[in-house]
Amino acid sequence: MLEDKNQEHTSLSELGEFGLINHLTKYFKVGQKTTVKGVGDDAAILEFPKEQVLVTTDLLVEGVHFDLSYVPLKHLGYKAVMVNLSDVYAMNAQASQITVSIAVSNRFTLEALEELYAGIQTACTNYKIDLVGGDTTSSQTGLVISVTAIGHCEKGKIAQRSTAKEGDLLVVTGDLGAAYMGLQILEREKAVFKVNPSNQPDLENYTYLIERQLKPEARKDVRAILEELEVKPTSMIDVSDGLSSEVLHLCKNSNVGCNVYEDKIPLDPQVISSCEEFELDSTTIALSGGEDYELLFTISQEDFPKIKANPNFSIIGHMTQESEGIHLITRANTKIELIARGWNALSKKG
Ligand code: ADP
Ligand code: MG
Repeated sequence: MLEDKNQEHTSLSELGEFGLINHLTKYFKVGQKTTVKGVGDDAAILEFPKEQVLVTTDLLVEGVHFDLSYVPLKHLGYKAVMVNLSDVYAMNAQASQITVSIAVSNRFTLEALEELYAGIQTACTNYKIDLVGGDTTSSQTGLVISVTAIGHCEKGKIAQRSTAKEGDLLVVTGDLGAAYMGLQILEREKAVFKVNPSNQPDLENYTYLIERQLKPEARKDVRAILEELEVKPTSMIDVSDGLSSEVLHLCKNSNVGCNVYEDKIPLDPQVISSCEEFELDSTTIALSGGEDYELLFTISQEDFPKIKANPNFSIIGHMTQESEGIHLITRANTKIELIARGWNALSKKG
């Protein structure tokens, strides 16, 4: 992909660091009223008159978090931003700025970095985020991207992981497991391609899965939907490592237990059919797949009528006393302890 014959190859050393930063950032426009000064000085200046400010960072390392043999750089840039925005939205807050730092080896061309920044810019435009700074340095081999997102929220509205109460209902947005199955498809195609490069993959049946893996969307909309419904989440987290891991985080931080109902876990039909094809259990995939970037939150029981018919949300369980533990109630009505790596019925009893 980096060797695309139709593209020009400008070596990074031709530009120098300042030339490179200027080239990559010149098309970004600043639009947030809280941005006083963006790229161009020693530090960005932001101004949040009344609200609390949220800061969150993620680091993505080539070979660990992404594989450039099937992830286009544009998508990587987009996803790097989404991963961070998702963390801001998971506080029930609004995101407004990002900084982007990259370490890049000379195997990358200017055109390759332009692709990366095109993805970052699309994310900024779609989500109304200002790029206000970053850092640029060289690396020996791979690409490293670190994005920091900044957000804001009225003091009383932030939703933390530690504030779920016994009796609260557990709610998740969207559906789960698709990004993981998208990765399975992409890895299978990569393996096929290695054996037979002329083989054109037919990915039509998997479009949703691949999109969820390559171009996830952070749930910016949820805060507004909940506000409209007059529902205040009692706790919240985003689903980045898989449902079971996030349920455990909520429970451990809030000192409560939980029952999750297998038959309530939202699955897209493409997840169900691809799991059959790969001989995987779709519940296991939803529980431990990860990279869904949906929001998992709790609400008090009295808010149930406001949420129950809303297509954005699935009520998948309820919080219990801590001493009751954290369980999955299966379709067969058996109770299985939820563990961080997901639910593995086979390794338990068979
Ligand atoms: P300093 O030497 O003070 O760290 P830099 O030369 O690294 O300054 O950065 C100059 C400006 O460009 C700063 O505003 C910085 O935030 C911004 N910047 C540097 N690298 C990036 C990048 N990869 N993406 C966006 N902005 C960047
Ligand atoms: Mg610097």
